[in-house]
Amino acid sequence: YDFAIYNCLHFGSYTELIYEDQQLQTRQYSNIELAREATQLAAGLRSLGIKPGDRVLVMMPNCPEVVIAYQAIARVGAVLVPILSQLKEAEVQFIAMSAAAKAILTDNPHPLALYNSLAALPTAPYIIYTGITSEQKEQPDTISQLLSYEEVVARGTEKADHYLTDLDGIKPAPDDIAVILYTSGTTGNPKGVTLTHRKLVSNAIGASEIDESAAPGQGKRLVTLPLAHAFGILTLNASYLTGAQINLHSRFNPYQVLSAIERYRITTFAGVPATFVALLSVSDGRTYDTRSLQYCSCGSAPLPVPVLESFQQKFNCQIREGYGLSEVSASLTVHRANMLQKPGSVGKPLPNVEILIVDEQDNRVPPGALGEIIARGPNIMSGYYNFPEETRRAMRNGWLHTGDIGRFDEDGYLYIVERKKDLIIRGGLNIYPRDIEEVLVAHPAVLEAAVIGIPSERMGEEVKAFVAVRSFIDAEMLMAYCREKLANYKTPSQIEFIQALPRNALNKIDKKELRKRHTLCAA
Ligand code: ATP
Repeated sequence: YDFAIYNCLHFGSYTELIYEDQQLQTRQYSNIELAREATQLAAGLRSLGIKPGDRVLVMMPNCPEVVIAYQAIARVGAVLVPILSQLKEAEVQFIAMSAAAKAILTDNPHPLALYNSLAALPTAPYIIYTGITSEQKEQPDTISQLLSYEEVVARGTEKADHYLTDLDGIKPAPDDIAVILYTSGTTGNPKGVTLTHRKLVSNAIGASEIDESAAPGQGKRLVTLPLAHAFGILTLNASYLTGAQINLHSRFNPYQVLSAIERYRITTFAGVPATFVALLSVSDGRTYDTRSLQYCSCGSAPLPVPVLESFQQKFNCQIREGYGLSEVSASLTVHRANMLQKPGSVGKPLPNVEILIVDEQDNRVPPGALGEIIARGPNIMSGYYNFPEETRRAMRNGWLHTGDIGRFDEDGYLYIVERKKDLIIRGGLNIYPRDIEEVLVAHPAVLEAAVIGIPSERMGEEVKAFVAVRSFIDAEMLMAYCREKLANYKTPSQIEFIQALPRNALNKIDKKELRKRHTLCAA
């Protein structure tokens, strides 16, 4: 189980890669070409002194070099720390320092500035840059820590004599740390979720069981999710495992997605709810042939049932909703092919995962009752990197406490109700923002809505809704509509109209940003 699968992921996958950027330029790699360049890069990293266990940051948008770097870092036995290329200098500094990074692969157009901003750290990391010419690099040649990606690969080319050779006999063990994933840090500084190869692989196995195009080489998977996120890494690993071809886009564009599905006969595609909303609203007067699609997967945020139903009707393709978080290597539940689809539910636990719903004292509650979702299984993190108190808080008696509130129905389907930290407590009564958001988006004038709790002296918290509209409606009219549909205590006391809701890199509504906006307006 362990080594066979591990080898398949990192040393001998059948997966081919077709990459398309925003200008529709493509680059294609066979599995052999991927493996060869990954080994050359790995040997190049070794020649810089990167050793097993060293942390290497990869800070690039989706591109072939990211896929190659992930494989190369595994081959060296080093630890991958993927970070979003949109992060600001202070965030990169924080992660580089907390992970004691030895090297950073980046497409940052100013590698010298990045180097200078990190040079004072105890471990001044190598900056390995891509995508700029040597004239643009603005660097004095004396800085040995600054190297181009091509230079590092070239160093390795002299050393890597065969594309499948182990490097100096290095072969990471399944229980070695493969990845540290830094969370977005909604509750303070980002925390590094530590995952071993075994955990990542076990999750890819659990999730791949839903893929009926699993015969090696048969599937064609379109990937637009950021590869710096757990969900993106899972789609990559699931492709390796099933030998599916990867069609990688630098970022999500609904027109590009539909035309790629048509052109490459894509069989499966994974997205977040906003992805499916955008695909539904494509209106360029063309009909795209999407008949090759066998199914789509969706996770990371609640998928509104009307979106699920309209998508399935328009594209004649099932969306299988699942649920997960970085702390579980990505996924805990899913709707599988051979089971009844229940809209609004996130499906059932993966075959190798156990889930319970518990009360505040960690006692199990009966089906139908609400409580915190806790989980146990081979895919659950070892802990937060160098953060024992947070690890103890999240991992209790071998169970990960997800901080999500949910319920099981009598058939064992899980429903996510809310995140504990988004729950609003008004005058002692629990209010689930999702209930109000669903009512708001059902109004024909409303495009999207997000509800947060705001501090109130009298009630503890009050309900505030941020709303983006598709046609005119004023706050009074919308409040009157809410009063008709919701109990009085749930009706928003404030409605703020907003052009578009803020979203994070995964296209999830960013409530942290909304809270900040409210505080600024209130000040
Ligand atoms: P942070 O943990 O720092 O706040 P994040 O929210 O971006 O960052 P992720 O691991 O990407 O962290 O997200 C996991 C969370 O996403 C889950 O805990 C859950 O609240 C939410 N989630 C995931 N899938 C679904 C789903 N299908 N329906 C509703 N919520 C979901």
